[in-house]
Amino acid sequence: MNNRRNFLRQLAVSAAIPAAVCSRAFGQAPPPAKLEETDPVAIALGYKEDTTKVDPAKYPMHKPEQRCDNCALYTGKAGEASGPCGAFGGKLVTAAGWCQVWAKKPEPAKP
Ligand code: SF4
Repeated sequence: MNNRRNFLRQLAVSAAIPAAVCSRAFGQAPPPAKLEETDPVAIALGYKEDTTKVDPAKYPMHKPEQRCDNCALYTGKAGEASGPCGAFGGKLVTAAGWCQVWAKKPEPAKP
């Protein structure tokens, strides 16, 4: 009886491990990480989560209307609070953010 129980237990364990490994290997990718203002690259590029908090003395090229959601490197959906940024390896930046890499998003093509 114990041998049969041990056999069934081992069978269950050996079936569960590959299933767990496969679900991790082929499951959905984890969501991108949020970019923190304290990230060394964010500091180097002057990233702020709120464009109105950018220091004009340090970044005289900054204009208040420049935001991540109108930057060419922002791939977030319109209306969402944050989205991935190509300058930061796809990390999530705030739609209202800014950094010194900002470049105007091209106008959509007219039909
Ligand atoms: S590159 Fe553009 S989208 Fe990315 S943080 Fe800078 S301003 Fe925002």
